[in-house]
Amino acid sequence: MPWFHGKITREDAEALLMPREDGLFLVRESTNFPGDYALCVCFNGRVEHYRVIYKDSQLTIDEEEYFDTLSKLVEHYCLDADGLCTRLRINHHNHTHNHNHNNNNNNHLLDPKAFEEAGWVIRMSELKLGEVLGKGEFGDVVLGTYRGQKVAVKKLKDSNCKAAQDYLTEASLMTSLLHRNLVQLLGVVFDGPTICVVTEFMAKGSLVDYLRSRGRLHVTARDQIAFAADTCAGMAYLESRRVIHRDLAARNVLISEEGVAKVCDFGLAKDPSLGTEGGKFPIKWTAPEALRYSRFSNKSDMWSFGILLWEIYSFGRVPYPRIQLADVVKHVEKGYRMEAPEGCPPPIYEIMTQAWEISPEKRPTFAAVSAKLNHMRENHTD
Ligand code: AMP
Repeated sequence: MPWFHGKITREDAEALLMPREDGLFLVRESTNFPGDYALCVCFNGRVEHYRVIYKDSQLTIDEEEYFDTLSKLVEHYCLDADGLCTRLRINHHNHTHNHNHNNNNNNHLLDPKAFEEAGWVIRMSELKLGEVLGKGEFGDVVLGTYRGQKVAVKKLKDSNCKAAQDYLTEASLMTSLLHRNLVQLLGVVFDGPTICVVTEFMAKGSLVDYLRSRGRLHVTARDQIAFAADTCAGMAYLESRRVIHRDLAARNVLISEEGVAKVCDFGLAKDPSLGTEGGKFPIKWTAPEALRYSRFSNKSDMWSFGILLWEIYSFGRVPYPRIQLADVVKHVEKGYRMEAPEGCPPPIYEIMTQAWEISPEKRPTFAAVSAKLNHMRENHTD
């Protein structure tokens, strides 16, 4: 555990946590409360020290959430700040991390041993690679076969770059998430300097491509409600596990051979240095408070879900078709909202408008919307 520093003083911990990047952290043994730990986290140029109480063989910070191990506690607060000043970030370039732990001879900064021990490592020899399925931000996705099953293999272009490292760190946290409407992670391959992430194969590709290529003629109202309900069920599961997606959009929903929609790329760390102005930042999908103040939450995901519904009912159009990217936030903050796409059922548009409430608290939960969509799906007649 590179972030564990044993019995060091509060002052030593502060000295180690340089530069004070938000979310950079370490855990030390508490000097004031023997048996307890302290979680030291950087935020706004300061170090906050949280007492981790050891009680009845469990660990807790807020006496609400309890964990069996420090790793589980760290994992949890990596996914969600959940009351701390900020989410924890594992920074692989910082000297607070003990690089010696990586004692194999490839040069990954992330320790593959953690994956190995958890049984998530797949050998390259077990994989047969085939055609290219698509290109993503992190590298090509190719079709593969693993133990007789078709899989998707994402090769990380530059396995040592920070984005790839963050991607993997998050992948390690994703190993505990399992739901019919989430694209399942199957394992990770460490092949020399190349790292590949293996997931279940989604034969019908991304939802946005599916909608665009088949259009009004082939995508039925039943399909639309099914895609919406499936995606929402996956998101309701993430909400229940307090995982924030941050990049929910029809391009990040994939369709299986059987036509089931599943959310992918969930909970991935987005490099904050990309800022909100970078070309790749999904401005048209992101809630105003997330764009302005980086306030990401399940409610900012709900905003994105409203946009995704609009994509489904407009058969894959780009949102805000007549507005320049740079002007979107300004219009939205003045109260502008997209109209219902042609033929969109009023109850669906009602969900969109609720998802686009300016104040996040007023937006519904995924659990509530999921119940509504399931009801509509069950009562759908052609
Ligand atoms: P991504 O890097 O996740 O954005 O993926 C890029 C493209 O690769 C997607 O738009 C899909 O066309 C394809 N792709 C990604 N993951 C899968 C998968 N699990 N099954 C099938 N195709 C996929």
